[in-house]
Amino acid sequence: MVVDISDMISCENKEVTKEVPIELKSFVSRLGEFPITKAAPIELKIANRENKQLLIQGDVDLTVSIPCSRCLKEVPTDIRFSIDKEMKLENAVINDEEMEDADYLIGLHLDIDKLVYGEILVNWPMKVLCKEDCKGICKVCGQDLNKGDCGCQRTELDPRMAAIQDIFNKFKEV
Ligand SMILES: [Zn+2]
Ligand SMILES: [Zn+2]
Repeated sequence: MVVDISDMISCENKEVTKEVPIELKSFVSRLGEFPITKAAPIELKIANRENKQLLIQGDVDLTVSIPCSRCLKEVPTDIRFSIDKEMKLENAVINDEEMEDADYLIGLHLDIDKLVYGEILVNWPMKVLCKEDCKGICKVCGQDLNKGDCGCQRTELDPRMAAIQDIFNKFKEV
């Protein structure tokens, strides 16, 4: 959702709180596309502090479906973070130089979904497991080893090896 903040800029010390829905349906990155299955509307606070600073604050609480790092089973993963953005105002305009990297602000229109997208990226979980001791899938036949052993000859039977494998896979992703 795009929020027009032009009335905020022109009005010193104005402060509003509005409920803004997250319209982002999935999170798309280099790692793939991940459905956002739940997203609470944000109580977004926008404040103009003495025509010097524009503040944008709110708490985000959403659930993203991410495959388990070991067995690839979809895991509903809660991602929570706070938005806390501060922009310098000069003569009732946003300082352009400071905002160079902020793709969520187009003129005086704040694109909440873009803002949220950028924050999800920063808050993306390092590793997602369906359960702490997930055994993963057999590298030989592809069986989900949580459901039982398939009897294949595998080298990495040691769970410590699985942890190393995870780290190894992470390097490949980057
Ligand atoms: Zn798993
Ligand atoms: Zn197997």
